[in-house]
Amino acid sequence: MEQVASTILFRLMALLGLALIFVPLEFVVRAIEAKPFPKSAGVPADVLHWMLTPVFAGPLVTTVLTSVVAAVYLSQGRVFTHLEDGGFGPIIMQPLWLIILEMLLFADLCAYCRHRIMHKFVWPVHSIHHSSTEVYWLSAVRFHPLDVLAQSLSYLIPAYLLGFPLKAIAIYMPFVTLYNFLLHSPIDWSFGPLRYVLVTPAYHRWHHTLEEAGQQANFATIFSFYDILFGTFYFPCHKRPEKFGVLASDIPRDYFGQILYPLVRAPGVKVDLAESGDAGGLKER
Ligand SMILES: [Zn+2]
Ligand SMILES: [Zn+2]
Repeated sequence: MEQVASTILFRLMALLGLALIFVPLEFVVRAIEAKPFPKSAGVPADVLHWMLTPVFAGPLVTTVLTSVVAAVYLSQGRVFTHLEDGGFGPIIMQPLWLIILEMLLFADLCAYCRHRIMHKFVWPVHSIHHSSTEVYWLSAVRFHPLDVLAQSLSYLIPAYLLGFPLKAIAIYMPFVTLYNFLLHSPIDWSFGPLRYVLVTPAYHRWHHTLEEAGQQANFATIFSFYDILFGTFYFPCHKRPEKFGVLASDIPRDYFGQILYPLVRAPGVKVDLAESGDAGGLKER
């Protein structure tokens, strides 16, 4: 119970700190670009996602991660006592800056694969993230706990098995969290030619669009070249996405309704276009 209270207190303090950065940023950008301020973005549900998801998902991530790594060790006849936080093998023979760069590249590749799988096979869970009809900075935290579980385990398990040290993981985690807040902010930055290397806010908003062309595209979180490599890059130069969300009208707007949604939704019922079809290849106009 004490652990839960300290987690919630930490998340509350972090939320206030993040709000000090992203609320003024969003205010300034919307004022300069004459964009409307979100009216029905579902802020209370998003705050609850930020505060409570670690309570559900955190212990599960630790338990599953430890169990899987222990099982792999035992299957190889190795002794497992605890997770190797210091890393091991060829990875830790390299300079720290290179390990961190490799961690970013590796974790984003894992994130890309996990994201495509969620769209293709576990859409009711991932559709919660896409249910924001007004994408804003806190849309970055609207994820079902099962989605967070998949996000964490998809890179933590292979990273630990490959020998990445905890310090590299500990740098990646807050970095990608902050980067996600930026990606969901209403900023039209496209980073010029760097758009072919890095995911930008304008780029990620196409992933949230209701327009068919943007669906099943832009799955990367940090490096857009993964989308180029796998044929899912979509970034029109001369237009902006206008409408966001999912076509399904049955995704609840309240937090607990969103938590229950993937569990109670009748299997086999299509949610929207994003569930069908596949990636559309390199599309740029
Ligand atoms: Zn998605
Ligand atoms: Zn998103």
